[in-house]
Amino acid sequence: MFVCKVTVGLLALLLVCSAEEDPLADLSVGERLERVNSKNIRGVDEPELIEGDIAVYDDNGRNADPCTSTGCMWPKSSDGKVYVPYVIANHYTDRERQIIQQGLASFSFITCIHFTPRSNERDYISIESLSGCYSYVGRIGYAQTLSLARSGCIYYDTVQHELLHALGFNHEQTRSDRDSYIRVAWENIIEGKEHNFNKKATLNQGTTYDYNSVMQYFKTAFSKNGLPTMIPIPDPNVPFGTATEMSQNDIFRINRLYQCCE
Ligand SMILES: [Zn+2]
Repeated sequence: MFVCKVTVGLLALLLVCSAEEDPLADLSVGERLERVNSKNIRGVDEPELIEGDIAVYDDNGRNADPCTSTGCMWPKSSDGKVYVPYVIANHYTDRERQIIQQGLASFSFITCIHFTPRSNERDYISIESLSGCYSYVGRIGYAQTLSLARSGCIYYDTVQHELLHALGFNHEQTRSDRDSYIRVAWENIIEGKEHNFNKKATLNQGTTYDYNSVMQYFKTAFSKNGLPTMIPIPDPNVPFGTATEMSQNDIFRINRLYQCCE
């Protein structure tokens, strides 16, 4: 029987990152995503991105989140587990591949999600080093690209962040109820980047807003002047957006969404 009550501490044991002499290692996952993705010019075959790292279909310019209009969950097997097939491109080094696989494996210990090497399944995640770090939200059908660029994306927290997108999760700051927990400081956002803070009709799984979610961006994301673009309510000094791995809430939401404990 699947045991849902495990602690995040177990994950820390798996955290093996080469922090030495890596200027990106000390950044939060959101800071790294913004820095890496802002430098990359996407190829003609690559998807449009919103919110920094969410891939969307270019459907006549309509940035539709397929999860809001169609089912996007990965199917549950008769044994109660959710097997999500993946392939990892062969252009990674052994070390890079190891970090990616640690991120993939981390879900198996604490949820019913099991990322498994693809055999012949139709729908699967194709992990490749393209232009930056990005993923679609949820299962979109057939091969879906999840880009983890060798330069800047091979970190445990980044792998978890992008995989959470692929499982159907959005950024914490776009939660439907976020206005009760953060004030978006529109006056500090780079002009033209305001859409990155549009709220979504998210399924919050009965959880409260989590400043420590690995899906929460850092406080100056998309800032034009270095001042915060998100301010916690009611205490503006609460630290947030600094998670280095999935939080208890992130894990809880997966188990709720995929009904892992039933
Ligand atoms: Zn993201």
